[in-house]
Amino acid sequence: MFNIILFGPPGSGKGTQSEKLIDRYGFKHLSTGDLLRSEIANKTPLGLEAKSLMDKGQLVPDEVVIGMIDSALDANPGVNGFLFDGFPRTTAQAEALDKLLSLKKSEIGVVVALQVPEEELISRMLNRAKTSGRSDDADEQVQRNRLSVYTRDTLPVADHYRTYGKVEEVVGLGSIEDIFGRLTAVIDSKKGAPA
Ligand code: AMP
Repeated sequence: MFNIILFGPPGSGKGTQSEKLIDRYGFKHLSTGDLLRSEIANKTPLGLEAKSLMDKGQLVPDEVVIGMIDSALDANPGVNGFLFDGFPRTTAQAEALDKLLSLKKSEIGVVVALQVPEEELISRMLNRAKTSGRSDDADEQVQRNRLSVYTRDTLPVADHYRTYGKVEEVVGLGSIEDIFGRLTAVIDSKKGAPA
């Protein structure tokens, strides 16, 4: 099992690239943002609680997302790897993930960190808001809040994995295909090229 964290700020293209990566490698895609949006769509108590935080660009509590990931790992035995997208977002989440994986005799193979300048992120999120229907994309103040939460709470996750030598930086600018090419080059060099 080879597991990947696709790491990067909101608007860096994690969702777009995740879809292409699961097509290429057959990973099981685990996006905590997608899981939370489906709780909201199903009007569950968890979804209702999460929505007000998400709408403000704040993080949902660690226990909630860690619980969701724990269940998703258990629900998908025998996959050839997980692609984590939008998780972990705090060092507490990263430590919990490492423990959950080690209980399954597994670990993170590589953290691929997409690098995109802030002004480009804002313009991509505003653009995405036109089609995504996501309320947290439409407001520039909420976006700036998400970026400052990212800098304060989520960037330390990269430092956590850097201490294990697991982080690879990838330039997240250019065409979708250019970026995909850079990501697959990194992943292939870490896991061995697909047959
Ligand atoms: P995303 O789709 O990854 O941009 O996530 C959208 C929103 O869902 C975030 O702004 C957070 O409010 C919430 N969220 C998603 N993943 C996490 C996570 N791992 N930890 C805490 N909150 C999260």
